Amino acid sequence: MIVAIPVRTPTLAPATHTNTWVVGEGALSVFDPASPYEDEQARLLAELRVRIERGERVERIVLTHHHDDHVSGAEALRRALGDIPIVAHPETARRVSGRVAVDEAWEDGQSRVCGGVTLTAHHTPGHAPGHLVFQDSASGEVIAGDMVAGIGTILVDPDDGDLAQYLASLDAMRALNPTVLHPAHGPSLPHADQILAFYIAHRHQRTAQIGEALDKLGAATPAELAPVVYPDLPAFAQRFAAAQILSHLRWMKTHGLARPNRTDGRWEPVR
Ligand SMILES: [Zn+2]
Repeated sequence: MIVAIPVRTPTLAPATHTNTWVVGEGALSVFDPASPYEDEQARLLAELRVRIERGERVERIVLTHHHDDHVSGAEALRRALGDIPIVAHPETARRVSGRVAVDEAWEDGQSRVCGGVTLTAHHTPGHAPGHLVFQDSASGEVIAGDMVAGIGTILVDPDDGDLAQYLASLDAMRALNPTVLHPAHGPSLPHADQILAFYIAHRHQRTAQIGEALDKLGAATPAELAPVVYPDLPAFAQRFAAAQILSHLRWMKTHGLARPNRTDGRWEPVR
């Protein structure tokens, strides 16, 4: 059994919540207790306590990746429930160190039984270096973290993301033949393969648009490209768009399609 408890988080609009996924029966695994807000932490705890009163227990907390809108309720939940381990990829453990103490590594390819559900972790870097998705071997369903979203889009931030890795990870997810994707934001997504194929195509389409905008402008910074590539962008989203564009430009550089010029660092097309 895989159930969502959406909790309010400071996440990227239009999303307002992160799904905390509760997996299994009897011994529960709680994925991404995400909220930094005390009222939301209390609400998650109250929902878990209903099941604890029925004789179930929380066996572990698991983190899909290190971002604040995924990990910020982990230590509070552990404090409330007693001594339960927090589990994540070693790269995530390193990046949350000082905020969350990760006790156990969950490495690529390893399986754990989560209250009757066998989940296998798959390392899917690109949105975040330590990102893991988890596939239920019986149903094929995947806890997808921030690889896809049921609402809004996935930001590949050049600070800790990498577009080439992200695209390779989407391909790797397709190879798992998933049935349903359970994203961190928004509703679950059936027709998993169509969704993953769309995400890959959409990124390549965006790269093509950036190439066209560069051809038109001659040379431009990511911030100058943002209103051309994303014409209907609200003001708050400008810097996220510029970040996404920089990830694309770096991908284009490695593929010989664009380069930063030597004088002012503006990006220009390679012809
Ligand atoms: Zn994230």
